[in-house]
Amino acid sequence: MRVTELAEVGVTVLSRWIFNCYLVHDGGDGRALIVDPGLPSTTAAAIGLIEAAGGPPPVVVATHGHVDHVGGLPDLHAYGAAVCLPSRVRDYLGGEIPRGPGLREIAKVRSILREQPPDLGSVLEIARTGRHTGVGGGTARFPNGADHWLKDGDEVPGAPAWQVIQVPGHTDDSMALWNQGTGVLLSGDAVLSRQGRAWFTPEVCDPESAALTEERLRMLPVGYLLPGHGRVVVGAGLMGRALAPRERP
Ligand SMILES: [Zn+2]
Repeated sequence: MRVTELAEVGVTVLSRWIFNCYLVHDGGDGRALIVDPGLPSTTAAAIGLIEAAGGPPPVVVATHGHVDHVGGLPDLHAYGAAVCLPSRVRDYLGGEIPRGPGLREIAKVRSILREQPPDLGSVLEIARTGRHTGVGGGTARFPNGADHWLKDGDEVPGAPAWQVIQVPGHTDDSMALWNQGTGVLLSGDAVLSRQGRAWFTPEVCDPESAALTEERLRMLPVGYLLPGHGRVVVGAGLMGRALAPRERP
């Protein structure tokens, strides 16, 4: 596991291969915020850091329901975390069939896989947890539901420094979290990174809504892009320089 401290914005990045879990030490109310607990192992490490700091159970947000973003949710439920999911996931649980990118779209982002040394264990963890938790294969499985269902413009309950921006395109339920005070954007899979630049994902189920998402996010004064997959990108004006979905560096 790779652990990277972004001390200046109070975030620890816990990664295995391309899978990133973010621990925000203080969501704005003294409570920690975990974003995208994709793997039980990275989630356990994040919980360990919270316990070492003596803090209460965290707030947790999944940017979308894909299995590689939610594998740690059962452990977080058991730990007493307040779990927040996109409100669209509630529609999936109510019977709506979730749309996701097809295999042709997934193939468009395979270049990301080669940027960091592969870790087979992370893939096995996802295969194991994905059977009972997450959106995949046209169904949604969240046996514990959520404590809060989030939508565009919401402040994250218990983490008021963070605002929800709906960013459909990759999936219909995709959300990003924005912190205006620090200029940090937790982009989920709407924006990835490639060779040190932000990259609007070409892995989409709805190109039109993805284009609107791109237009909206390019306007944000982001100084730190914390993507669902790939390395963190830092620098003023980074969204303006972001690669479009069709561009391959
Ligand atoms: Zn995804």
